[in-house]
Amino acid sequence: MTALFQNYGRRPLEIVEGKGTVVKDSNGKSYLDFTSGIAVVSLGHANERLVHVLNEQSKKMWHTSNLFESSGQEQLAQQLTNDTHLSRALFCNSGAEANEAMMKLARKHTGKSTIITFEQSFHGRTFGTMAATGQDKVKEGFGSMLESFITVPYNDPEALRQAMSHDVAGIMLEVIQGEGGVTKVTDEFAETIVEMSKTYGALILVDEVQTGIGRTGTRYAYEQTVIEPDIISLAKGLGGGFPVGAIVAKEKFAKDFGPGTHGTTFGGNPLAMAVANEVIATIFDASFLQEVEKKGAHLKEAIQRELPADVQVRGEGLLIGIKKEGWKAQDALVAAEEKGLLTVAAGNEVLRLVPPLTVTNEEIDEAVSILKDVLQTM
Ligand SMILES: *Cc1c(COP(=O)(O)O)cnc(C)c1O
Repeated sequence: MTALFQNYGRRPLEIVEGKGTVVKDSNGKSYLDFTSGIAVVSLGHANERLVHVLNEQSKKMWHTSNLFESSGQEQLAQQLTNDTHLSRALFCNSGAEANEAMMKLARKHTGKSTIITFEQSFHGRTFGTMAATGQDKVKEGFGSMLESFITVPYNDPEALRQAMSHDVAGIMLEVIQGEGGVTKVTDEFAETIVEMSKTYGALILVDEVQTGIGRTGTRYAYEQTVIEPDIISLAKGLGGGFPVGAIVAKEKFAKDFGPGTHGTTFGGNPLAMAVANEVIATIFDASFLQEVEKKGAHLKEAIQRELPADVQVRGEGLLIGIKKEGWKAQDALVAAEEKGLLTVAAGNEVLRLVPPLTVTNEEIDEAVSILKDVLQTM
């Protein structure tokens, strides 16, 4: 018997401790963790610096609410906007909440309601973000969806042109679709988005919940495209495992979120801010980001060298997907787990490799060698 809702397809193992990329289950078996809690544990498990700042903050103050000033929030907002075209941040507790804030801000600023989103996108499980998500399986059984979303095929410039009108408040996208199969925006499509945004006065909203905070080798993934977003949303990697979300926006939005317009009780709490400030201080360092890019290239090369020629590799930095014609990604996931490698599926056909950004080349080689074994026996 269980008192838990069975709303997750859980693997039958419990991970009880970890250090860096290596975790142990309750039976003492070790694994290389190429899930990092779905692209969350960006600096590895039990990172000493993060443990330290969390412990220190926990002795001083856990929670004061947004009734009072917060130097932790001020500092994190500064760090997230430094050397970018963005200048205002707001903190919340999850990716879906960040996307809710992003969509509300876009609607308030433009006075329009329609938001264009893309097939195979994933934006969250709340009432609004569920409607924004371009995957039927997320919406099934939940009745009529919130209106004013238009879902358009991804990377299809003509379809986007057709869908545009002066009623569109914003175009919302992941520049690499994470849950949807690790699919990257094409250069042509990114250019079309920028053009449509200009022509119709529509905002560009980039969901960086999975791709942001160094995951793809740059601070934010949009930096690798021609897109200069009006607003971005963040969560997963931002707290290195501590729950925290954010939106970061251009200065022109400052007046739209005035006192009393939007908020959350827990958003920007001192524990989350202490950890996230340390995460950003570490990751937003040019040499750290360069390492992520190099390790991502190493992972891609190892896959291409060691795995069968019909294995496709996609993604950027340490957000990598592999796909093989006719396989079920879940079968590979289970087989890899038996051999000591944890991975996460992205849809039915793509296996996602999202290790901590602190992963070593040796760990990458070991993971690829396990995948090689898996594919030989499948
Ligand atoms: C995970 C994810 C979300 C939802 O984040 P939660 O913290 O689970 O609400 C939204 N967008 C993208 C791109 C994600 O990967």
